[in-house]
Amino acid sequence: MSSIQQNIEHITSQIESAQQKCGRPRDSVQLLAVSKTKPNEAILEAAQAGQRAFGENYVQEGVEKVQHFNQHHADIDIEWHFIGPIQSNKTRHVAEHFAWVHTVDRAKTAQRLNDQRPEHMPAIQVLIQVNTSGEASKSGATDKEVFELAELISSLPNLTLRGLMSIPANVSDYQSQLSAFKQLAELKDKLAKQYPDIDTLSMGMSGDMDAAIEAGSTMVRIGTAIFGARDYSGKA
Ligand SMILES: *Cc1c(COP(=O)(O)O)cnc(C)c1O
Repeated sequence: MSSIQQNIEHITSQIESAQQKCGRPRDSVQLLAVSKTKPNEAILEAAQAGQRAFGENYVQEGVEKVQHFNQHHADIDIEWHFIGPIQSNKTRHVAEHFAWVHTVDRAKTAQRLNDQRPEHMPAIQVLIQVNTSGEASKSGATDKEVFELAELISSLPNLTLRGLMSIPANVSDYQSQLSAFKQLAELKDKLAKQYPDIDTLSMGMSGDMDAAIEAGSTMVRIGTAIFGARDYSGKA
């Protein structure tokens, strides 16, 4: 068995026990394998182990991988998620290659993704990235902006609003992790009253997955624990 396959089995059982511990049903949390900086061979190994949803952060790298798998592994039905920051001049590539986008935090991005989605493709599944308090990064919408954005996204025919995503500050203490995730879960519950398609909370990474699951995550984004540490030395 390859180590990637072993890691996926390990994470899957960790997800199961975290679900069990807080009384959530089996299979209520989906595993998104974050493959940024990792080669196609690593993605193929994970796919051969049964993994189907993959997350990419960088537009050019992500597009090359999508094209590679479309050309050489058309028999594997991979679901590609874009989870990185989106510059306006790159929206077309995202709209043309990805099934899901987790990082919509501005009206302009939503509008462009909608306008640039090719007609033959299904609607993009969209998550609004939220800047929960204490977050280090500048990206992410405020609570107030979330409601305005939700209204816009639901009016756009080529986008389907599925929920919220956040990347909380990197803290190791469980209670702090939990309270940041609970904020996002509450916001999602409020939003879901108005928008019935909302069913997704993308939160939790290798270091804070258990707290995210306790707070109600439905999709954990795991890179390091599946593919090993990343090497950024080749990146500009
Ligand atoms: C890199 C990344 C992840 C995965 O992080 P790990 O700590 O390697 O599990 C998850 N979400 C986003 C948005 C990322 O950029």
